[in-house]
Amino acid sequence: MTEPAPRPLPHLSGLVPYKGGTGGGRAQVNTLKLSANESPLGPSPRAIEAYRAAAGALAAYPDSASGGLRGALAESFGLAADWIACGAGSDELLGLLIAGFAGPGDEVLISERTFMMYEISARAHGAGVVKVPDRDYRADVDALLGGLSERTRIVFLANPNNPTGTYLPGSEVRRLHRGLPPHVLLVVDAAYAEYVMADDYESGLELVSEHRNVVMTRTFSKIHGLAALRVGWAYAPAGIVSVIDRVRGPFNVSTPAQEAAIASLGDLAHLEAARAHNARMLPWLTSELEGLGFTVVPSAANFVLAAVPGGGAASAALEAHLQGEGIHIRRFAGEGLEGFIRVTIGTRPALERFLAATKAFLAAKGRS
Ligand SMILES: *Cc1c(COP(=O)(O)O)cnc(C)c1O
Repeated sequence: MTEPAPRPLPHLSGLVPYKGGTGGGRAQVNTLKLSANESPLGPSPRAIEAYRAAAGALAAYPDSASGGLRGALAESFGLAADWIACGAGSDELLGLLIAGFAGPGDEVLISERTFMMYEISARAHGAGVVKVPDRDYRADVDALLGGLSERTRIVFLANPNNPTGTYLPGSEVRRLHRGLPPHVLLVVDAAYAEYVMADDYESGLELVSEHRNVVMTRTFSKIHGLAALRVGWAYAPAGIVSVIDRVRGPFNVSTPAQEAAIASLGDLAHLEAARAHNARMLPWLTSELEGLGFTVVPSAANFVLAAVPGGGAASAALEAHLQGEGIHIRRFAGEGLEGFIRVTIGTRPALERFLAATKAFLAAKGRS
């Protein structure tokens, strides 16, 4: 063929799509997926019931305003409903914030070793991305403030951070905010907020209430166990919510997703069970891995990042061994995390199976 093909925008060249954790899609028999930070307890039975009930309404477009869900969130968290925006996962909201506030010629400022979607979305919208070093696997407030320029429009902070699992105390997030000019938007991505046990943690709710340039995003994909439905929400000043409303698709959250999320908010016992499970298993998995010679980054979330003894080559061999056993973890090659794996807090039997397979791998490696 010699006809010229339509050409994508130049800023899209070299942009690589997000890679989800392996082992995904519909669960396969005996496959253990510890690669995407999903909830081992699954959704609330009430959410499943609401999802099924929504099958009766599939011919109708969803509520464009996600009114019921915004009302339920407002009540649960004691917020004003017109300060809440809902999206198809918090991923969509992160992209909508970029669409609304940063484009070609602008910069988005992030830490190294953070959630990949900030960079992917920023570049997809033609914005530049400035990455500054972190410190001890934690966002470094001074480095972030040092990375500001006249072009900076948005600072993204994942708190707790993915993939490191570390968090910044509220005082540090406030110090970051104090150093930003008022026209720069601070987006605090609190996807793992519910798991944090530390007293000095703040999800960002108060900071949003107190200022005009802060947004907090949350998700139903993690502790609520509803990743397949794609529901997230943002808490932001009403003016920012209205910008999101202008750039989003009119029916961005489906009816089954809205209904299941509302039902999930009402099941506090399920939420508490998921939190308690994580609080028990996180220190346990950490010490088990340390006992096997891994260096584990202290985590406040529902996963751990751990350096495999033997480094990059060993981590690739471990991943292959685990996959042979039907166990999927997330391995990093590059991104400043060569030799690291990330393991989701699964059920106790799941983690025991992962540890047994890892022990067998290390024993075989020791013999060879
Ligand atoms: C998992 C995750 C999300 C949630 O994404 P959804 O689109 O809501 O499923 C957002 N931010 C971070 C840092 C995450 O790890």
